[in-house]
Amino acid sequence: MLPVHDGTGPQRRASIQWSAAMIVECPHCGANYPVDEKEFAGASKLKGQCKQCHSSFVINAPAELPQLPAEPTVALAVIEGPARGQVFRLSKARTILGRSGADVVLRDPEVSRKHCAIEVHGSTATLSDLGTTNGTFVSAKRIQSCELEHLSKFRIGATTLLFTVTDNKPGESEPPPTLVVRSRRS
Ligand SMILES: [Zn+2]
Repeated sequence: MLPVHDGTGPQRRASIQWSAAMIVECPHCGANYPVDEKEFAGASKLKGQCKQCHSSFVINAPAELPQLPAEPTVALAVIEGPARGQVFRLSKARTILGRSGADVVLRDPEVSRKHCAIEVHGSTATLSDLGTTNGTFVSAKRIQSCELEHLSKFRIGATTLLFTVTDNKPGESEPPPTLVVRSRRS
């Protein structure tokens, strides 16, 4: 299976450093997958196959491909809520999430100004609620503090976030376990 090119997308770029996950939703069964943007290799579209329902579908590349260093990536992807589809790379040891004045700003009226904190240590992280009214939830359970690992989900306000860890060391990177995406390598 080869990527589809429609000729209308952005020109192939010489070097794309960005390699964090974006979120793709299967149009047939609604399953969400993180997809590594480097799989696009400059193409505007890719064909993917859903591991859950085995249907094929086309994935559009995001309009902008930010330039970021290819280091191990710890990121938060918004999978539900007003900022759905956004991915925030966690570059600090401690990151505050909130509605304003936070490191990661979520324009969700149910989120507190400073809602929760994520402390990254290696490939896991600790999520802590900052004494909010609306709370921080993991698996529908309100938590004060909780460990996160790759593909952990949590909810604040109307926003559900997916915690992802991508190891970008040469020769050691693997595709996300839940999605088959063919790049244009032949
Ligand atoms: Zn599917």
